[in-house]
Amino acid sequence: MARVYNFSAGPSVLPESVLKRAAEEMLDYQGSGQSVMEMSHRSKVYDAIIKECEALLREIMNIPDNYKVLFLQGGASSQFAMIPLNLLNKSGKADFILTGQWATKAYKEAARYGEANVVASSKDKTFSYIPEWNEADFTKDADYFHICMNNTIYGTKFTKLPETGDVPLVADVSSCILSEPIDVSRFGILYAGAQKNMAPAGLTVVIIREDLIGNAQEITPTMFNYQTHADNDSMFNTPPCYTIYVCKLVLEWLKNEIGGLEKMKAINEKKAAILYDFLDSSKMFKGTVEKKDRSLMNVPFVTGDEELDAKFVKEATAAGFVNLKGHRSVGGMRASIYNAMPTEGVEKLVAFMKAFEEANA
Ligand SMILES: *Cc1c(COP(=O)(O)O)cnc(C)c1O
Repeated sequence: MARVYNFSAGPSVLPESVLKRAAEEMLDYQGSGQSVMEMSHRSKVYDAIIKECEALLREIMNIPDNYKVLFLQGGASSQFAMIPLNLLNKSGKADFILTGQWATKAYKEAARYGEANVVASSKDKTFSYIPEWNEADFTKDADYFHICMNNTIYGTKFTKLPETGDVPLVADVSSCILSEPIDVSRFGILYAGAQKNMAPAGLTVVIIREDLIGNAQEITPTMFNYQTHADNDSMFNTPPCYTIYVCKLVLEWLKNEIGGLEKMKAINEKKAAILYDFLDSSKMFKGTVEKKDRSLMNVPFVTGDEELDAKFVKEATAAGFVNLKGHRSVGGMRASIYNAMPTEGVEKLVAFMKAFEEANA
């Protein structure tokens, strides 16, 4: 068996021990005689899986008791609508910082249901930095304030948070959840598509402060009302059962093999530094974002020559470093180095880049 180093932005690499465990348990989950794929979501054996998944997430992220954890479907993209439908219920206004495509989609979708205001943007330089903001520009009576914490396509992340006072801060954490500790109590809602750092595709995790549930706009579809899912422990309808099970395995790996989020952060910082240090010293490759705003998870880089970029991607793929092509909107390369990417994968990628640079100098 030959496994490649997979730098995909999502769906993305999973810990090998998790895949092995899932394979071992595929035909007969813990003596039940069934695969988790096959069992009723209302069965006792499945109930233990979803409960354990939530308990582990609460423990690892230190989620306060006054927050609900919801296991939903529809991707982070559905949250772009679900958030305004549920939260735009007083002034009908929300503030946005635009730091990339996902943040912009959240903004545009919210504008369909209320008044959406842009308080800062980095569009002028292709979202290659996190813009400064001025608190005087914030809407005092906004129903929420939205940011995209880690910008998957451009490779930037917020290193400080806007002070929004009583206005609930809502963050898309799809590509940085579980990569380092986060103070959940600073937020009204944290949400993430699971296919970057948590599980395979199909699961959307929403962590929501309880007082934000229960005031959805009248037009809100039942399935888009947080109350529906909060009242039914994410079992109003069939949840993405198997993905939640793999998420549980990933959380067990994070707790038992890694040792929690502080340890994960230290590993991620070391891993990212290997790649960034090389980019800073290379004469051929260079990073595309402002250093102070660099993401720990997504590292875009270019040679400055499109043909050379294409040659690099082709040769890297042949050598077993796959999915390095940059997002179709920005070109170049991007290495997504999520939690499950081993340090060795980044070391070997850098060695390959050095050899490529020498051969093509
Ligand atoms: C991938 C991604 C999305 C889109 O997620 P889906 O689950 O495909 O809807 C949204 N926001 C961020 C930050 C992402 O990385």
